[in-house]
Amino acid sequence: MNYHRFDCIIVGSGGAGLMAALEASKLAGTAVVSKLYPTRSHTGAAQGGIAAALANLEDDTWENHAYDTIKGGDFLVDQTAAEVLCREAVECIYDLEHMGLPFDRTPDGRISQRRFGGHTKPNPVYDPAAPAGTEAAKPRIPVKRACHSADRTGHMILQTLYQQCIKQGVTFFDEFHMLDLIMVEGECRGIVAIEIATSELHVFHAKSVLLATGGFGRMFKVSSNAFALTGDGPAIAYRHGIPLEDMEFYQFHPTGIYRLGILLSEACRGDGGVMFNGEGERFMEKYAPNLKDLASRDVCSRSIYQEVRAGRGVGGKDYVYLDIRAETINKYKTSPTGEPVDSAWVSKRLPDIIDFARTYLGVDPIHEPMPIQPTAHYAMGGLPTDVHGRVLRDESGAFIAGLYSAGESACVSVHGANRLGTNSLVDLVVFGRRTGREMARFALDRPFQSLPPKPEAYVKAEIEAVLARPRVEPWVKIRDEMQRTMMDECGVFRTADTLTKARDVLVDLQNRYRSTGVQDKGTVFNTGLLEVLELGCLLDLAQATVASALARKESRGAHSREDFPTRDDSQFFRHTFIFKDGEYPGRIGYKDVDVILRQVDGRMEPKYPLEIRKY
Ligand SMILES: Cc1cc2nc3c(=O)[nH]c(=O)nc-3n(C[C@H](O)[C@H](O)[C@H](O)COP(=O)(O)OP(=O)(O)OC[C@H]3O[C@@H](n4cnc5c(N)ncnc54)[C@H](O)[C@@H]3O)c2cc1C
Repeated sequence: MNYHRFDCIIVGSGGAGLMAALEASKLAGTAVVSKLYPTRSHTGAAQGGIAAALANLEDDTWENHAYDTIKGGDFLVDQTAAEVLCREAVECIYDLEHMGLPFDRTPDGRISQRRFGGHTKPNPVYDPAAPAGTEAAKPRIPVKRACHSADRTGHMILQTLYQQCIKQGVTFFDEFHMLDLIMVEGECRGIVAIEIATSELHVFHAKSVLLATGGFGRMFKVSSNAFALTGDGPAIAYRHGIPLEDMEFYQFHPTGIYRLGILLSEACRGDGGVMFNGEGERFMEKYAPNLKDLASRDVCSRSIYQEVRAGRGVGGKDYVYLDIRAETINKYKTSPTGEPVDSAWVSKRLPDIIDFARTYLGVDPIHEPMPIQPTAHYAMGGLPTDVHGRVLRDESGAFIAGLYSAGESACVSVHGANRLGTNSLVDLVVFGRRTGREMARFALDRPFQSLPPKPEAYVKAEIEAVLARPRVEPWVKIRDEMQRTMMDECGVFRTADTLTKARDVLVDLQNRYRSTGVQDKGTVFNTGLLEVLELGCLLDLAQATVASALARKESRGAHSREDFPTRDDSQFFRHTFIFKDGEYPGRIGYKDVDVILRQVDGRMEPKYPLEIRKY
């Protein structure tokens, strides 16, 4: 058996994992275990930007950012965590800049910022009595808050953090796939991983373990997510009885390339792009009269579906257009400054988007609009944590010693029922840093705890079982059926009927999954074996998602129940916790949303009062 011992083990080398590694390794021995080569992590695909109220181009405050984040999340956001995010975002951006991250610049050399959906500030000329449709009638207006490197922001963040980790001597185990957590007496004491090149098992003994394994968008048929995003961290923890929080909230990004799901960044609309239906109508004017195309993602995705259902998709089909042509931006006066722009400006701001459209669609967005449809994009739910990344044991707020989570696999919860664009990258750096610090401190305070005999035995048996099974049906068939079911029955709109159907299909798929094997029985890069194990993770998370969605009988943020179309704060102003104890669907519990109170005229009142969300 291959045995390794480190104070801190970090699983995942995306933005969250690398930021935590940088911080933890200042204090304690740290290693990063990643199934992908670090710079291939999905963080590198992030396009549009990272939010922070630097106020480089116009007035802005971190309080504005916190308000937008809480409202964007349809008030399911934990407010202390949101304030931490928005306050610390500012210093984190300057830290990244000092590490060498090449942000785009303003003419006078400051970090440039662009607009993104749902990021606003109070309108200085607001007048509640002003006639509708006028500038003065808008309570809030878009603000430039997203720092960026063209449309390759995530790539630059990932490269910068990786370089810093190498410089600081962090140990990397690249292409090692975690298959289990070592849990003893309710504590986490390490992980078991397989070395992909050889199929050898490795035991990593640790004092603290961070799961930073990213999202699980491969649960859905049309997705912006890379193939590796299969939710291994949350799924493996869930099997050990650790709860998952708010799984019913999954974000569909409005502008994926039609059928392929490849993302066309919201920066397209931040920089002036406009969406049109098949009748050439700028339909967002109907659904979000104030912010229009810059409304939050849940609102835009629902609007596209509604247009398509009403028969106003392009050519009666299930897609609409995203138009970033300079002539369109000028016609609707949607450029960031309101001044006319030309094609060269668009090409400079959105080079990768233009490239994707030419390559994957055969469409040149400089001259034509791009066919788009909503694409599964981001998991608001995940492993419940506090603001130091400590994973919660249950709704009571108790922690699991030695276990941490950060990034998309975690639910802090700063995104509530719907995340704002550019708020994930900043979540990675703010909470990655905090978690790295916390897990190192915890490790310094205690000796290594003992491991059970043969901690790898469970994984070994699981692999042997998959390899021994006959291939009754191709496992890709099970995956395709899961992806289609989740897209159609548990996507942008849901009802009790569609969710019940999904629940029954998933039970059948789980049974079929347990009796199917792989063709390749070898030990060298047996990717078939690993994909089957990843599919097992996705199936468990899909079941948790559907069960949580069935239990939430209201519509809030990304969770849209057509049979319960309004938000119900009296019953559901709280987080869902689902536990895999016993038979499916397991126990569901609830935890109150963290609300900040402040004193007004001698009385305590909510700092962010509940309001009906309008854009
Ligand atoms: C196309 C696209 C564009 C986006 N654009 C933006 C944007 O402009 N702004 C923004 O704020 N957000 C954006 N997002 C969202 C954001 O990029 C992600 O939420 C974020 O990068 C997730 O980072 P992470 O560190 O949590 O995980 P990831 O970067 O996804 O990394 C996950 C890591 O976990 C490892 N891993 C997973 N399972 C295992 C296992 N079993 N064993 C070992 N290692 C494992 C992987 O190897 C990988 O290193 C975008 C997302 C996509 C898909």
